Amino acid sequence: MAKRALISVSDKTGVVEFAAQLTERGWEILSTGGTFKALADAGIPVRQVSDVTGFPEMLDGRVKTLHPAIHGGILARREADHLAQLAAQGFGTIDLVCVNLYPFRETVARGAPFDEVIENIDIGGPAMIRSAAKNHAGVLVLVDPADYAVALQDDVSQAERRRLAAKAYGHTSEYDAAIHAYLSGASDEMPTQLPEHLTLNLDRVAEVRYGENPHQPAAIYRWGDSRGPVIDAQVVAGKPMSFNNYADADAAWSLCQELAGQEQGAVCVAVKHANPCGVAVADDVKTAWERARDADTLSVFGGVVAVSRTVDFNAAQAMRGTFLEVLIAPDVTPDAVEWFASKKPDLRVLIAAKPEHLSVLDVRPLTGGFAVQERDNRPWDDLCPEVVTERQPTEQEWADLRFAWAVVKHARSNAVAICKGGVTVGLGAGAVSRIWAAERAVANAGEKAQGAVLASEAFFPFDDVVRLAASAGVGAILQPGGAKRDPEVVAACNELGISMVFTGSRHFKH
Ligand code: 5GP
Repeated sequence: MAKRALISVSDKTGVVEFAAQLTERGWEILSTGGTFKALADAGIPVRQVSDVTGFPEMLDGRVKTLHPAIHGGILARREADHLAQLAAQGFGTIDLVCVNLYPFRETVARGAPFDEVIENIDIGGPAMIRSAAKNHAGVLVLVDPADYAVALQDDVSQAERRRLAAKAYGHTSEYDAAIHAYLSGASDEMPTQLPEHLTLNLDRVAEVRYGENPHQPAAIYRWGDSRGPVIDAQVVAGKPMSFNNYADADAAWSLCQELAGQEQGAVCVAVKHANPCGVAVADDVKTAWERARDADTLSVFGGVVAVSRTVDFNAAQAMRGTFLEVLIAPDVTPDAVEWFASKKPDLRVLIAAKPEHLSVLDVRPLTGGFAVQERDNRPWDDLCPEVVTERQPTEQEWADLRFAWAVVKHARSNAVAICKGGVTVGLGAGAVSRIWAAERAVANAGEKAQGAVLASEAFFPFDDVVRLAASAGVGAILQPGGAKRDPEVVAACNELGISMVFTGSRHFKH
């Protein structure tokens, strides 16, 4: 019997092309009113859901697909007993569910009146998505046009089906969270004078076994209806995330995104205890990973790694010999997921969520409360770097200075990064004095400091870092400037023949 797809989409982008390809591959297509019309108008053979259920859509579309002929067809296990029960009712199976939901968020965003917002709560769509995701062993569930191509393959692996199911539940839970947020706050009067993004509206999103240490109970929360690339990531393989995994993955992803925004190549960031330990940019993910790993082979052990592009089988295999806690990427190919699941079963593999608006909040714990600020979101392009020495940085040094600036911005103060050719060769972070951060970085770099650059997230109180860097062979230094002894610091650079750039912007991260 032909396989059956149920397509019911509010946003009809790409749906005609997708349905045409399914038809070509012999699928029968069922659709709700508006989708049926769009497909039929395009000349695609399609049946109305009402034709299958024997009931018309009713209550202004509130009830379209909520019927045993639909949910039975989706939920039946592909086993004799369930299939016989379906057949006894004259129902067939539904093997693919492609749904996108009523545009609830968009309706709220354009300030629609309450009744219209309520009407834009989709009921049948999430029900079908959840049914199909539950029965993903036998049913493909598509909530994102980016996944349409997967459904056109002859055989879709169980790992891929599971990935789609996880994504589907992510989608419905975000949808419900948006409704929850709207209804919790929906009133004519604002409850507080704080700007919306500073209201302390918390939502518990994940359980963790314990906090930083086993004797500390803990949980993961979000701000109101904001979304995060890590807290909303899909865990496609490995053990459940721990408290420290969340914190480190967030740190790694933040730096990775900053660099991805300013560099041409693929970026790889390895983090240990919230600080970068190896960072590299290269033509492809595999090489970026190898360079980041080799930057500090000792510290990367047990690390958390973020990359800026899809991890494929090749890149996955290059991680074979290194014990890692977490890998987070914009995407991971199904064969790589399968490989990780069988060869590195403890590694948590995350596909980062791609929220449209990132939370702008940054929070530091205080006993009995916390300090809240906006995140340090200032990008390189907002700076006006000024060369303050006789020697100008070379083109390569400029590229390395910009790279090193991003690294120290995301490291704990006091932080110093020594970089060369798009790789960190020496890092000193979380030091209680600047010269100690520099000493650590120089010691890590060793010979590799020759011809490298150095960046510091805050100014130099003395010229000691300059003298140390010059003795190690560093050619250019970047720092905010603004210290009392700046003239002495610049004079030392001129005396030693190295370049110095002031950015005018400090990036403390305590
Ligand atoms: P169409 O444009 O095809 O008429 O409607 C598509 C939309 O209807 C999709 O967004 C889908 O999620 C939603 N939908 C499908 N079945 C039901 C249902 O039984 N009740 C409600 N409220 N929405 C449904």
